Amino acid sequence: MQGDGDELPADLEEALAGVRSVGVITGAGISAESGVPTYRGVGGVYDDPDEGDRVVEALSGSTLVRDPDRTWRAVTALARMTVDAAPNEAHRALVRMERALDRFVILTQNVDGLHHLAGSGQIIDIHGDVLATRCMRCDETGRLSRAEVAELEATPPCLACGSHLRPDAVLFGEMLPQKKVYRMQEAFYVDPPELVLVVGTSALFPYIAAPVVDAVREGRPTVEINPEPTSLSALVRWSLRGPAGSWLPRVAEALGTSVP
Ligand code: NAD
Ligand code: ZN
Repeated sequence: MQGDGDELPADLEEALAGVRSVGVITGAGISAESGVPTYRGVGGVYDDPDEGDRVVEALSGSTLVRDPDRTWRAVTALARMTVDAAPNEAHRALVRMERALDRFVILTQNVDGLHHLAGSGQIIDIHGDVLATRCMRCDETGRLSRAEVAELEATPPCLACGSHLRPDAVLFGEMLPQKKVYRMQEAFYVDPPELVLVVGTSALFPYIAAPVVDAVREGRPTVEINPEPTSLSALVRWSLRGPAGSWLPRVAEALGTSVP
């Protein structure tokens, strides 16, 4: 285990030098240094477990059906926390990696759109995007600006049919979108990357931990970046303990990408 401020371990630096394809799995922690609160961990919005339960309930598929205004209030509260957020050093390091490598993909649980805003192209946003909308009746899709979501007071209407819009994101208790599940399987199992990097996630969802576990089982190199230990820390080959904004630029550099 390496702490923040340390150099990359020499054997990791050596391993990274020859790698041409990387799969990165990101969670809320990669956006923490952009000022977006994580759900769990230090400074997470779920630090108070009761509050956490209430947020999870509000952001669930069943609440959306019963009381869409409640779900939208919770979405709005989250959007207010992200309205001024900009990509940080960690998001930018992933953009450089993508440009320098032969193959690159990000599987993210984040709904904040910051990978996209930073300029990453190959993104599987498995939980969707909090700004995307879909009509609950006619299925018309659309997009709100961050400022529009942050100012919402109630469920927005569908301009096509007058019914209600829902966030086009995966709410708690809902199924993952099938097409993205296929893309994830293709990217991490059918034609797996040489190296799997897991950044800023508590990795509680099985489909998030599984590509890391699979790579470990097959002897492919794995790296975790997180200030706190997770269920994956003991499994991965290298566990870099500290913020993504410090470690990812060093990993990008060791992969042969130069800092602009
Ligand atoms: P999580 O909140 O469960 O865990 C966050 C993890 O990030 C923790 O392990 C924490 O130690 C780590 N972390 C904190 N600061 C960090 C930093 N500077 N660098 C690296 N790691 C850091 O997040 P998760 O695992 O992504 O949780 C899953 C759910 O949370 C997903 O459904 C996701 O959609 C949702 N979520 C998304 C956002 C976002 O889009 N930015 C924000 C909060 C929650
Ligand atoms: Zn409609």
